[in-house]
Amino acid sequence: LRSRLPQVGTTIFTVMSALAQQCGAINLGQGFPDFDPDPKLPEAVNAAMRAGHNQYPPMAGVPLLREALAEKIEALHGAAYDPGEEITITAGATQALLTAVLAVVHPGDEVIVLTPAYDSYAPAIALAGGVARFVPLDAHYRPDFDAIAAAITPRTRAMLVNSPHNPSGRVWTAQDMQRLGTLLAPTDIVLISDEVYEHMVFDGATHHSAAAYPQLAARSFVVSSFGKTYHVTGWKVGMVAAPRELTREFRKVHQFNVFTVNTPMQHGLAHYLRTQPEAHLNLPAFYQAKRDRFRAGLASTRLRLLPCEGTYFQCADYGAVSDLPEAAFCEWLTREVGVAAIPLSAFHPDPVERSTVRFCFAKREATLDAALERLARL
Ligand code: PMP
Ligand code: GLN
Repeated sequence: LRSRLPQVGTTIFTVMSALAQQCGAINLGQGFPDFDPDPKLPEAVNAAMRAGHNQYPPMAGVPLLREALAEKIEALHGAAYDPGEEITITAGATQALLTAVLAVVHPGDEVIVLTPAYDSYAPAIALAGGVARFVPLDAHYRPDFDAIAAAITPRTRAMLVNSPHNPSGRVWTAQDMQRLGTLLAPTDIVLISDEVYEHMVFDGATHHSAAAYPQLAARSFVVSSFGKTYHVTGWKVGMVAAPRELTREFRKVHQFNVFTVNTPMQHGLAHYLRTQPEAHLNLPAFYQAKRDRFRAGLASTRLRLLPCEGTYFQCADYGAVSDLPEAAFCEWLTREVGVAAIPLSAFHPDPVERSTVRFCFAKREATLDAALERLARL
């Protein structure tokens, strides 16, 4: 069999979670909370099941959920999306990203990806027959607009961006968004904006959605995930907002790769959005407290902290501790120290080694403290 994805193995998240389990290590690798969502949310899902919401919903998603999202996006970003024709519910952000790429990228088209990048982007482009043009973020993981401009060619069909950024925790500024708008204005490049960590920004910073910049919104798929916002990564429900013409093409692909997404979760989420419309407003303070606790603990280890402006990830440089390459260091850390982390090399398509690893701090205080106690021995 000739592989469609010859370079691809099993994702680092699966590999590290399995190793953590095998070694009994504290899993700060794969990004997921080790605590439960607000009980009102599963209660709303149970109620939806009991009320008979158990058959296929409309292809684009439960209308109540799309309407609640349209209102939320309008309130947050001043952008009007028609829930009927411009918002689609997806099986997590992963399926939204793949579907968006498949919908717009033709074989041979180029897609700009800023690296380090989430590991699903390059395979999505490959499956569409596209060519990923990797453009490194700068040494501080900020966008390098000269390098991006230099990567644009007549074949550039789309660009993938991600802020708040996994893995670096960087958050794009308003100026970054404006520069991106100016850069893309004379082109017909489609922007795929991965905003799954939209509600995890710290120190009073603001998330700047592509939806908030009309010039960008007009060419963008804005992607998010309920998994991150409501502590339910296993539910695999996400969404994409995009102008009519883009949504029309998106749904042509969506209807044949999942058709639609499970009904009771969507009803439960719609009910929760209606009855707890401010729930996401707690997230910055909630996660900032965890970030600060984790950073304070790490500061007294031999790991060197990198900035963390958003997301639930903290990166650290282990250069003072070990000469091992990142993947080998993470394996050693999991086996010998009992803490699992993710090597940043997993986010680099080209071999890049900066002795940097990523920890997920979406954990209970007791979990973070136990991990810190082990890391203090480094
Ligand atoms: N994009 C980024 C940057 C992510 O970190 C994740 C989650 N790990 C996803 C997309 C996928 O989100 P979901 O679990 O909703 O598919
Ligand atoms: N997005 C999560 C992370 O970055 C993992 C999701 C997955 O396991 N595919 O850790």
